[in-house]
Amino acid sequence: MIIIIGAGLSGLLTAYRLKKAGIPFKILEARDRIGGRINTVNGTDDTPVEMGATWFGDQHKHLKALLEELGIEYFEQYMDRIVYYQASPTSPTELVQIPRQAPSYRISDGTSNLINTLYQKLDESDIILNQSVKEIKFLGDSIQVITDKVYVGSQVVLAIPPKLWAKRIQFEPNLPADLMQIAEQTHTWMEDSIKIALTYKSPFWLAEGRSGTLFSNAGPITEFYDHCNHQRSKYALCGFINSSYKELRDRERRALVIAQLKDVFGAKAEVFMDYLECVWSREENTFEAAEIPHYPHQNNGNQIFRQSYFGDKLVFSSSESASESPGYMDGAVCSANYIAKKLIALNGLKSL
Ligand SMILES: Cc1cc2nc3c(=O)[nH]c(=O)nc-3n(C[C@H](O)[C@H](O)[C@H](O)COP(=O)(O)OP(=O)(O)OC[C@H]3O[C@@H](n4cnc5c(N)ncnc54)[C@H](O)[C@@H]3O)c2cc1C
Repeated sequence: MIIIIGAGLSGLLTAYRLKKAGIPFKILEARDRIGGRINTVNGTDDTPVEMGATWFGDQHKHLKALLEELGIEYFEQYMDRIVYYQASPTSPTELVQIPRQAPSYRISDGTSNLINTLYQKLDESDIILNQSVKEIKFLGDSIQVITDKVYVGSQVVLAIPPKLWAKRIQFEPNLPADLMQIAEQTHTWMEDSIKIALTYKSPFWLAEGRSGTLFSNAGPITEFYDHCNHQRSKYALCGFINSSYKELRDRERRALVIAQLKDVFGAKAEVFMDYLECVWSREENTFEAAEIPHYPHQNNGNQIFRQSYFGDKLVFSSSESASESPGYMDGAVCSANYIAKKLIALNGLKSL
């Protein structure tokens, strides 16, 4: 049996491909939910808002092909070339025209629609939640994967960001030193970001002829966008705030965000239904501090992650391991497709 560690996009897609090939597997997931860095949450009136991955583009061909394969629809992010801009904390909010952008897309009903669609193709018993893997022992023909229980398998797929497995999981025997060193210095995309969303009863920004886009160097918010659902029947704004604001208390950060929104969009911005945020550096199953801060995408896509170890018993299938678009959802799909193909070839050969 193949043990897949992590029920994010890469782990779930690897599992789905193995299932279709009739190869037995189990997924062990540390959180009490699936999806990893993909997490759509619903506001009080069921407005889907993204706390994690949201956008993709035409260049993300692996993801687009998967959405097509699974019959999942997507739609273009609502934008306008006229956007709000705050150049500095002391300059007034301006309306500026930005150059024409390549379209970016969102998944209909939220990015977790992709996760849930993959999940529905598996059996409930294929995934075991609340299983944080601490140790992996390669013992001749069998492998022990240790959480607070011991699972025995024949191959292991590490479908978690490299820095996490390098720093958190003990391997016996040790992994090669060059692999460990690169993994420890591999940036986990967006691990330190803060995402916020506010839901509203009406899209007041549209009534004023604005798209809801804000780019700012002035406050906690750095970029903000219209986040209505694809039917445009549920209303929200969503975006990023500067990760240095993680140091503030929640209520202080929230007060600064609301003050900035009020400043840009007017008093109506204060009359929201929900204020939702995720400080990703508090997510222990995503974030891992580095002694020397990594630059964005550092070591992402390093070819060392596409090799297998211990005689094909250990392989890697996370977004950061991908040969294309590493760090992004497209990378997670690319990586899962590559690893599933490799495992199917290996296990097919074994059964000949
Ligand atoms: C705030 C944010 C915004 C983003 N925005 C975008 C975007 O707009 N577009 C885009 O393309 N990408 C975006 N991304 C990146 C995208 O989310 C990832 O590329 C993709 O979801 C990674 O999938 P994955 O399966 O490789 O890893 P993950 O989603 O990280 O999944 C790994 C899984 O392993 C589990 N796990 C960790 N440690 C253990 C352990 N020891 N034992 C068992 N399980 C463990 C985790 O809980 C998790 O479920 C964003 C990410 C974040 C955080």
